Amino acid sequence: MHSSLDQKHISGAERLLGFSQLEEAASAMLQRALSHPRGAADHISLTVQSLKQKQVRKHSLLKFASFEVDNYIQGRDRAQKLLEMLDIDPLIVRNAISLLATGPSASGGVMRGAALINVDSGDRLELDQSRGVRVSRMDLDPAARSAIELFLKAQTLTNPRIIEAWVLASKVALYPQVVAELCWSDDPDYLTGYVASAQNGYQRITHLKESGCEMGGRVFFVRPVVDLNALIDLLQNEPVLFGSPLMESHCICGT
Ligand code: AMP
Repeated sequence: MHSSLDQKHISGAERLLGFSQLEEAASAMLQRALSHPRGAADHISLTVQSLKQKQVRKHSLLKFASFEVDNYIQGRDRAQKLLEMLDIDPLIVRNAISLLATGPSASGGVMRGAALINVDSGDRLELDQSRGVRVSRMDLDPAARSAIELFLKAQTLTNPRIIEAWVLASKVALYPQVVAELCWSDDPDYLTGYVASAQNGYQRITHLKESGCEMGGRVFFVRPVVDLNALIDLLQNEPVLFGSPLMESHCICGT
């Protein structure tokens, strides 16, 4: 689902599910587009595509950690350090953080998808800097959902966005060309974001922006790749269902 208001991106969502769940999921997506804190959409597109079950790859979610910080300044500092630990140049990280803070779209607002940044040069790689790259065709395996929900509930994490973001980040991290991802929401009421990587897992950070701020987005830090289009195709089109993480890692980390 993709929705917009006055031609500006409002919200999007991706699911990968059985035919019997289609109606309920479609109705939940419409509801979401119409009740978003950034405004009720005036344009909603819902695309449904059928897939053969054997096309669907199965994988485990990234391991999960949560960093408690008092404010977005501490949070961005933490994100900077986590990304530097992956050997990404500090200046490229700083620029990526300020890109999301000021509006990554060509028009200065939020993008529909993610910005791709070359980890060596810091250059933007996506062709369309308003749309970006939208990761799609991924979901949580229904067999794993209740265990994952219980795990999160035990940490008083009940917002369904967490699972969506964890699943998306786990798909992005599947591809070796991606070194890391940085994300925070464009929803003015949702201040939490994350750094994710195959190496260190999904690292949630409780504050990455100020309350009321409508700026947000995603940056994928990628190695210079021989075939960027092939990577974009996998991110957009490869269907993947995620099960419980292989490594049980439930750390709640301080600043
Ligand atoms: P959200 O967490 O849904 O508030 O999304 C935050 C930002 O991430 C959006 O403004 C988009 O720029 C980007 N984004 C949302 N969904 C996707 C997706 N499926 N693939 C890539 N980027 C996305």
